[in-house]
Amino acid sequence: MSIERTKIKDLIEHGELNAKVLIKGWVRTFRSNRFIQINDGSTINNIQAVVDFEKFDETELRRITTGACLQIEGKLTESMGKGQRVEIQTERFEILGDSHPDEYPLQPKKHSMEFLRTIAHLRPRTNTFGAVLRIRHALSFAIHKYFNDKGFVYLHTPIITGSDCEGAGEMFRVTTLDPVKPPLTKDGKVNYSEDFFGRETNLTVSGQLEGELGAMALSDIYTFGPTFRAENSNTPRHLAEFWMIEPEMAFYDLKDNMDLAEDFLKNIVRYILENSAHDIDFLTKMYDQDLKHTLEFVINNDFARITYTEAIAILEKSGQKFEYPVSWGVDLQTEHERYLVEKHFRRPVILIDYPKDIKAFYMKQNDDGKTVGAMDVLFPRIGEIIGGSQREENFEKLVNRIKELNLKKEDFWWYLDTRRFGSAPHSGFGLGLERMLLFITGMSNIRDVIPFPRTPKNAEF
Ligand code: ATP
Ligand code: MN
Repeated sequence: MSIERTKIKDLIEHGELNAKVLIKGWVRTFRSNRFIQINDGSTINNIQAVVDFEKFDETELRRITTGACLQIEGKLTESMGKGQRVEIQTERFEILGDSHPDEYPLQPKKHSMEFLRTIAHLRPRTNTFGAVLRIRHALSFAIHKYFNDKGFVYLHTPIITGSDCEGAGEMFRVTTLDPVKPPLTKDGKVNYSEDFFGRETNLTVSGQLEGELGAMALSDIYTFGPTFRAENSNTPRHLAEFWMIEPEMAFYDLKDNMDLAEDFLKNIVRYILENSAHDIDFLTKMYDQDLKHTLEFVINNDFARITYTEAIAILEKSGQKFEYPVSWGVDLQTEHERYLVEKHFRRPVILIDYPKDIKAFYMKQNDDGKTVGAMDVLFPRIGEIIGGSQREENFEKLVNRIKELNLKKEDFWWYLDTRRFGSAPHSGFGLGLERMLLFITGMSNIRDVIPFPRTPKNAEF
């Protein structure tokens, strides 16, 4: 009778000595015709299988190459090697999939991140991407767990949206019309009433407006889904397709919103430190000696909380030369955000009460007539990681703002209905999953924390 396969993680962590085991995985290296390092993605650590080459057929042995997929049966024994508790004394092996040693792009050496982006279909087999992808999974799970434990309802907001008024950047159109000869209206414009949905539709840039509808019924909801922005910003912090988490809470004011955001961020970082320790240790060793320390620092220190107006004063007094000059009313750039976080406060910062002219129409209007109850959370190395606000719950004020901004009130009839029927103070925010991952993994480019990045001119795989 054949034995059941065990994942390598389980063997390394609590495999019983002298047990007969069966593993399956991909060869990382095969040294001296004797030591196979093999990995199945369940952990950053490889397990070593020792082969007594005299016992095996030479042509079979020659098929054990970097990248090949193998199944190995043998006895689990204590390892004499450094840094590994156990190894396998190979009794039988079977090649499940050959890999041509010269053609396989992943050689046992350190490749550049740029090169690995050109082979995104294979890079999950590297130590770095294995670690990043396992952490990405653990972080997603931690986020669901956090909100579930707090009684939030996971609300699935639409990915295809008919509202082009979410106001958070350029959108990707969704259409089934003939791209060469679309039907036209009398005045020569594309006639979207003949399109699939009978109107112009796009991929969503945010689930917030629909999220608010949910909060006005279920009290506390969150969304967690893909988000699309056709902004042509080729930066290390922007993707055209990214994942966003957007909690929305009835009866929360801006202070409640800040408290939730801070508790949430600390909680999910703690989860990763506790549950992805090996992967964090690996990334700390390979990429950023301070990584683990930075994560612990965020958990153990209060975030600074200041107003936009105070932040501008600090930046003006800083004596720092910025590429984009600072004065009251400007939108803060990453360089300003990072100065506040890294140089001035030396800890995460929550900035509130931004000028209304640089923020979205739905944000709560403050009594000063100039600012709104916005809230951005700024992190070291990243800058903005969360954008949020208390929402304007007053029907008249909201309609006035919509008119001031020359938006069409009719487009928002369903959104405005929440302010007509049982309106309530409420707040929410959006966390970009990949921005959070940049922070947690120490990676420096957002293309390296998502399996298949979508950026301008790049969507092959
Ligand atoms: P930024 O000013 O950095 O471009 P934003 O103000 O447009 O961001 P929001 O609309 O407030 O972003 O979105 C909420 C969160 O979503 C941001 O705080 C960030 O974490 C994330 N985010 C926004 N745009 C992107 C993007 N293009 N790629 C990855 N994450 C993003
Ligand atoms: Mn923002």
